[in-house]
Amino acid sequence: GIAVSALALSLVACGSDEPDTAAGGDAKAGGKIALLLPESKTTRYESLDRPLFTEALKAACADCELIYSNADQDAAKQQQQAEAALTQGAKVLVLDPVDGKAAAAVVASAKGQNVPVIAYDRFIEGANYYVSFENEAVGKLQAQTLIDTLKAAGKTSGNIAMINGSPTDPNAADFKKGAHSVLDSSGFKVAAEFDTPDWSPDKAQAWMEGQLSAIKAGLVGVYAANDGTAGGAIAALKGGGVTPLPPVTGQDSELAAIQRIVAGDQAMTIYKAVKPQAEAAAKGAVALATGGKPESTTDKSGVPSTILDPVAVTKANINDTVVKDGIYKVTDICTAS
Ligand code: BGC
Repeated sequence: GIAVSALALSLVACGSDEPDTAAGGDAKAGGKIALLLPESKTTRYESLDRPLFTEALKAACADCELIYSNADQDAAKQQQQAEAALTQGAKVLVLDPVDGKAAAAVVASAKGQNVPVIAYDRFIEGANYYVSFENEAVGKLQAQTLIDTLKAAGKTSGNIAMINGSPTDPNAADFKKGAHSVLDSSGFKVAAEFDTPDWSPDKAQAWMEGQLSAIKAGLVGVYAANDGTAGGAIAALKGGGVTPLPPVTGQDSELAAIQRIVAGDQAMTIYKAVKPQAEAAAKGAVALATGGKPESTTDKSGVPSTILDPVAVTKANINDTVVKDGIYKVTDICTAS
């Protein structure tokens, strides 16, 4: 269902000190902003994106209301949630699409009602604004860290299994492209490769289990596109008695992944600072809701964009990244199991 939460009622003018609302419109208007997230098996959405966007929207517009929904990896459900948000009077849709291509229909329907759409994290053709990370760089950092880890262990060849993200997520194609650009000329061999439907950790695990008998012998590393699929791969490797565990990559700096890195079960993850992402999206939404333009630094396929930098995280820099930024305390990492 759709959860509607009134953030706050206040007399403070919405966006009154935002220079980017100067392009026109009524800067005093509050209104409803919809945040539509794609799934909840990946922990970032409910534990970071949702609360950080809520907070950033409140800061950018004290009298705006948030309409929130999560599609649980179901593109049809997300389309219904978007239609419901429009029916409820959303002035802007902030959409992280389950299916990037199918989301073009949502953009068309929103545009028909003069409602701008922000492509949040995953690109959508025809959106009014796009906020994401340098996604090919994510794939390069993952693959480069994997190769560096293997070389540091004295290896120069062997099989790598590749577990990519969902075929309906445009980011997954970028991660894969970036990773291949490093792996294909590394001296190691991509011996088996899988595009994980819905980014499902269970499906990643089942695929890895099915591959083990064929590639176990020469397997030296696993490229997993995010921490959920990494968790699935590691469970399969442990269940299949693969010792020592080969290095496995990940993404999102989920707490479980940081703990696996500390324990030596996962080689790396990617830290993407969700706070500036959520803030850019919330400010952009308020600007669009009041007839202004979001601040952008670049452009992707004609869509004004803000693109942030990802950071590789290994045991060596957990403190300087997720701990320093207050995402986790050392006691969170060391006491939870
Ligand atoms: C996001 C990742 C996330 C994945 C699965 C991607 O679009 O950029 O952070 O792990 O989707 O939800």
